[in-house]
Amino acid sequence: MFKKVAFLTTVILVLLSLRDDTVRAEGYIVKPGDTLLKISDEYGLSVDTIVNLNRLQSTILEPGQYVELPDIYRVMVGDTLYKISMKLEVSLSELKEANPAMQNQRWIYPGQIIHVPINNGMVFMGDSSEKRIALTFDDGPENTYTPQILEILRQENVKATFFVVGERVREYPEQLRRMYKDGHAIGNHTWNHPHLSKVKDKEFIENIRSTSEEIERVIGVKPNLFRPPYGEIKDHQLEWLQQQGYQSIMWTADTKDWSGVSAEDIVSKVKQEANPGVIVLQHNYHATGPFETVQALSVMIGELREQGYQFVTVPELLGD
Ligand SMILES: [Zn+2]
Repeated sequence: MFKKVAFLTTVILVLLSLRDDTVRAEGYIVKPGDTLLKISDEYGLSVDTIVNLNRLQSTILEPGQYVELPDIYRVMVGDTLYKISMKLEVSLSELKEANPAMQNQRWIYPGQIIHVPINNGMVFMGDSSEKRIALTFDDGPENTYTPQILEILRQENVKATFFVVGERVREYPEQLRRMYKDGHAIGNHTWNHPHLSKVKDKEFIENIRSTSEEIERVIGVKPNLFRPPYGEIKDHQLEWLQQQGYQSIMWTADTKDWSGVSAEDIVSKVKQEANPGVIVLQHNYHATGPFETVQALSVMIGELREQGYQFVTVPELLGD
């Protein structure tokens, strides 16, 4: 027995010593009264770093919830930001973005703690340093709700982002053309909205390619944004998308507008989730039953503007 324990201890010690001890991970258990902003301030992080690392689909935290914090790197003698960015294989701007406290700092010093930027291939929240929000609309185009939504966005002078479905682009190309002409950003939302976790690789690739080709045929530009239907995607599919130059865009605020909720509920949900950098999920397609996205839209825009928010497209929110 003792031998076995000693052996296991040795194995663990050897494994630990193999790890680079200048980088280590941390976690946090949410306490009552905690907010994303409070936690990010406490650790010198940006809110979007926490949201994207934890793949949070809401800005509201529950007490007892476990929140992963980014790995930390301890600056060594002779380190420069450039050297660190090479070591961690991240760009200088990613490094600075993940460490907002460093913005006003001229020097780094040995022992200083630096947060390691994350890139897990998915964006749930954009830059949280400015009061900007991105409205997104999925599953179109079609010709009932899409023209009404485009009209409201035009009147309100708001640029949004549409994640379109290939087979509907083929059916309603004129609606896609108008979206693009009005200055909205366009993303790929697959050809026929499958559960990607269930499709074979060949079908997955074909689904993405055919949609991007159809979009390019209509507006002359290939999209580089992608959103997986139902938010379902496998890691190797994310990797393929990244290699192909797509950014996979999720959301921070889900209006659940497809579920028959009232316009009031949609507006209050978005107000609850409103934070700088939030990506709002809505739809511009609905098969049957109540659907109040159109009724909610100008009220939502008005109320958020009153709170000082500006509306931008997803690429703008990501600083592209
Ligand atoms: Zn969808």
